[in-house]
Amino acid sequence: MTRIDDLPIRDELRGKSPYGAPQLDVPVRLNTNENPYPLPDALVARIAERVAEAARGLNRYPDRDAVELRTALAAYLAKTAGHAVTPEQVWAANGSNEIIQQLLQTFGGPGRRAIGFEPSYSMHALISRGTGTGWISGPRRDDFTIDLAAAVAEIAERRPEVVFVCSPNNPTGTAVSAETVVALYDAAQERGPALVVIDEAYGEFSHQPSLLPLIEGRPNLVLTRTMSKAFGAAGLRLGYLAADPAVVDAVQLVRLPYHLSAVTQATALAALEHTDTLLGYVEQLKTERDRVVRELTAIGYQVTASDANFVQFGVFADNRTAWEAILAHGVLVRDLSVPGRLRVSVGTPAENDAFLDAARAVFKEHTA
Ligand code: PMP
Repeated sequence: MTRIDDLPIRDELRGKSPYGAPQLDVPVRLNTNENPYPLPDALVARIAERVAEAARGLNRYPDRDAVELRTALAAYLAKTAGHAVTPEQVWAANGSNEIIQQLLQTFGGPGRRAIGFEPSYSMHALISRGTGTGWISGPRRDDFTIDLAAAVAEIAERRPEVVFVCSPNNPTGTAVSAETVVALYDAAQERGPALVVIDEAYGEFSHQPSLLPLIEGRPNLVLTRTMSKAFGAAGLRLGYLAADPAVVDAVQLVRLPYHLSAVTQATALAALEHTDTLLGYVEQLKTERDRVVRELTAIGYQVTASDANFVQFGVFADNRTAWEAILAHGVLVRDLSVPGRLRVSVGTPAENDAFLDAARAVFKEHTA
């Protein structure tokens, strides 16, 4: 049998594993930070209408520049993220993962390096590798906040071309303050300009306002967002960025022509028409998130303060056996190899109750 390593693949991919959260068929799946609420019927009907309209034109390529969608996304940000942006400042792609890939293809690549402060979203490192960009694992404090002095020193010494700041951070849930982002941005510009990417995939769930206003007057600052979480549309695959229009022009150099299908554009536009309903679910999830944090703390767990739709908790003697013990109760959570910690996504109240029961049952035997 031919194995991957028998093929003439790139050296840096040899022996590596792909991204892979287990997709197990268990009663309560709280492992990939999805929104537990299916799209409401009125929105499903509107999607069908919009997609039927788009289907009539599928003999043609879609709008390559996705102008109508970018206009709707700009209006959404202006309404909800505390800063007016124009459609020329917004760019969309198939998930924010593709946005990150386009940014790394444009600003990273062979001979260049990106830094992230770990533990953080693993795809920042993986997409860096996939685009031939070197990866620097920057530090965090024991409480999972960014150690600003250490981070600035690392940036000054290693001079990465791309800096990732994930806020709220996955998997810890920690938000990053505007002051910290500005300090990191200034440090990154000191030795020649570098791109700073704020990954705000979970921005809508945060206690703190969006970091979007920071892009004003900072041409090398990019904010990335997604419809996978707050909009409950992970299956849609729609992510976007907001930045100086020059950044949008720059990623045109690497984007595939017609990358965003007419069906995707039509579906996303329908979802954006229902923003108010969908953001209502976000409010419910925030209330449930705060309840999960409170109840886990009451059980005796150490819980990392969360600004996202997931919660990091521990401290376990062994991640893997604790993960298995919770799974034995029919609840799938995530082990991201953060020593002693697991991550649970916030689900419906019933799913959260099932999780909390499991967490209560395994506490004594598995915590350190
Ligand atoms: N950024 C972060 C921090 C994430 O956690 C995720 C998804 N887990 C993404 C980006 C990518 O999301 P998507 O490609 O679905 O937009």
